[in-house]
Amino acid sequence: MSKTYRLDGWLAEADQGSRSECRKLIRKGKVSVNGEQEKRINAPVTDVMIIEVNGQFVRAPRREALTVVMHKPVGLACSNDPREAPLVNDCLPAEWQNLGLNTVGRLDRATSGLLLLTNDGSLLHRLIHPKRKVPKRYQISYSGQLKGQSIQLVADGLTLADDPKPCLPAELILQTEGQATMVIHEGRYHQVRRMIQCLGGEVTDLHRDRLGSLDLPKDLEPGSMREIRAEELIAAQQADE
Ligand code: URA
Repeated sequence: MSKTYRLDGWLAEADQGSRSECRKLIRKGKVSVNGEQEKRINAPVTDVMIIEVNGQFVRAPRREALTVVMHKPVGLACSNDPREAPLVNDCLPAEWQNLGLNTVGRLDRATSGLLLLTNDGSLLHRLIHPKRKVPKRYQISYSGQLKGQSIQLVADGLTLADDPKPCLPAELILQTEGQATMVIHEGRYHQVRRMIQCLGGEVTDLHRDRLGSLDLPKDLEPGSMREIRAEELIAAQQADE
C-alpha cells in the first residue's frame, strides 16, 4: 500500500510552491487528482496518483532527502537562472546535480559563508519561514561611520529607506573600527547591506558564519561542500523562541 499524504503538503514537496501557495492553487480549482478537479486542501493522495496543476502532470516528490552544507565563496549566485552564472548549483558534484537541491534562502553573489542546500521541502520551509525566526549571523566589514545609536536602532527594528515595514529587532555588535557582527532573524533582500547603509555605512565584505546554532564547519574551505550531519541539521534549525 502506498503511503498517504495531504494534497497541499504533497504539492509543496513536489516543488509547486510554499504550502500556502499550494493551498491557493487547490482552492482556485487548478489542481486535479486522477483526472478530477480537487478543491480539498487535505485530500488524501499517494505518489502513484496522477496529480496535475494547471493541466500539467506533477512528478511525485523525491522521498530521499539530501541536505548539503557549503562554504559559499564570493562570486557565485544563488539562482537557477543560467544567465546569472556562475551559479552555486554549477559547483555541485555530478551525483548531486539532478536531485532538486535548492539553496535555503540566498546569499548575495558578493557574500561568502554558510549556505545550506536541500531537496527537503518541509525542512526548507522550517528554515526560511519568518515566523520561526531562525537567527543568521554575519561578520561585516564596512566603510564610513555608523550613527551613534546604531546598536539601539537595530535592536528596536530599523525601517529601511525603501520598505515601510520595520525589520525585526536584530543584534549589532561593534567590533574594531569598520568591523561588526550582526544577527538577524529574517531574510529580506540585501538585508544586512541595507541595514548598514541605513546606519550610515557601506558594507565592503559580508560573511555568514552561523545559522541557527550551527557554525560554518571549520573543515570546509571556500567552495567546498558535504552532506550535513544529523546533529548539524538539528543545530541549523534552532530558533530563538
Ligand atoms: N544580507 C545581505 O545584505 N546579503 C546577504 O547575502 C545576506 C544578508
